Amino acid sequence: MKLQYQKESFIAKEYWGTAFARFFPVMFAQRCPVCLEAGIFKNYFELREACPVCHSQFERDKGSAILSAAISYFAVMVIGLLIAIPMILTYGFFEGITFVLVGIILALIFLLHRPVKGLYIWTMWCFGFVYPDR
Ligand SMILES: [Zn+2]
Repeated sequence: MKLQYQKESFIAKEYWGTAFARFFPVMFAQRCPVCLEAGIFKNYFELREACPVCHSQFERDKGSAILSAAISYFAVMVIGLLIAIPMILTYGFFEGITFVLVGIILALIFLLHRPVKGLYIWTMWCFGFVYPDR
């Protein structure tokens, strides 16, 4: 299904439905928030400069990616604690717990990278920073 392009995207009441409808495809399938037709990644870790279909730039201001690093750090810490606390309460401080926890943290960083970038691009799109250039 092809959705209409939006010239300007911003959080105004009439766009809430569209913003909500695009939240899941952008966050979990990492589709372009403007056209939903192309992926936002060129490989597992790197974002594309722009969408190959609708030519929307994903990162207009390079330094703004620090926001996704902050979201990622927060999400990894919260989920890491939600795993670590029951594990410590159940098994205690067993030998090798450091390696298990570091492994869990590294796995979370790896698994959350793409959804967090998707969330970041979706947020930028909601505030009008991701739009077609031509
Ligand atoms: Zn696109």
